[in-house]
Amino acid sequence: MPEGDTVYRTAARLHAALAGKTLTRSDFRVPALATKDLSGAAVDRVRPVGKHLFIDLSGAADRRLSIHSHLMMEGAWHVYARGEKWRRPGFTARVVLRAGDTEAVGFDLGVLELTAAPEAAVAHLGPDLLGEDWDRVRAAENLAADADRALGLALLDQRVMAGIGNIYRNELCFLAGLHPAAPVSAVPDPAALADSAHRLLTANALTPVRCTTGDRRRGRELWVYGRDRRPCRRCGTAIVRGSLGTGSGPAAERVVYFCPACQPVTPGSGPVRRRTGSAGR
Ligand SMILES: [Zn+2]
Repeated sequence: MPEGDTVYRTAARLHAALAGKTLTRSDFRVPALATKDLSGAAVDRVRPVGKHLFIDLSGAADRRLSIHSHLMMEGAWHVYARGEKWRRPGFTARVVLRAGDTEAVGFDLGVLELTAAPEAAVAHLGPDLLGEDWDRVRAAENLAADADRALGLALLDQRVMAGIGNIYRNELCFLAGLHPAAPVSAVPDPAALADSAHRLLTANALTPVRCTTGDRRRGRELWVYGRDRRPCRRCGTAIVRGSLGTGSGPAAERVVYFCPACQPVTPGSGPVRRRTGSAGR
């Protein structure tokens, strides 16, 4: 699943390619939008809200309109020069927007809709970690609201704060010294945790390499994510890959990585199963 910083970078790239231009052609390849033609519309702005992406238009037949998309698990937006070969199969394209010699293609988008009320699409989200209106106090309140919930699940809940995906939720649990299954009530200072999330996403918003350790050298960027059976960078204990939650939600969201020494299971933690094949201590 993409992290908020991925969506932020995608929006920046699309904004640079499209903003201020007039669409010369649109080709929606989803049934609900197949007859829509946005040619003549001007692209005012491309912006992220949490993991949602909006292409704000004006001047089309519908006066104000926004293309709302969400990458979900596999989606991506690419920018091409007209005629350039696409880097994904054509049959996975859901929309093609052309403005002069620039072509923006949305592949495998989990959500794709046209809306005149973009605010409604994201009204459920908590404070946007990369938004200009980031609100640490409200994020902390949202986090603390469900004290019994597993921290690893609360951090992924976009209604708590928007922008965290599976990588950051694992890294944040490590930085907090808490097992992903530990209850939210074990977090001593929810505002400090919200600050950590904000700091990490902001630091990585416009860099191609995601780093939480402060060491951007290859292979040293992350504390625990994707590092099962390798030694913890703090204590040397083998990192464990486990599974969190009850089975709802995409499988990739249930995978957790943690150091069993730095992040001991606390009383009140839910069940975490080790994945077979993990030789972690
Ligand atoms: Zn450790």
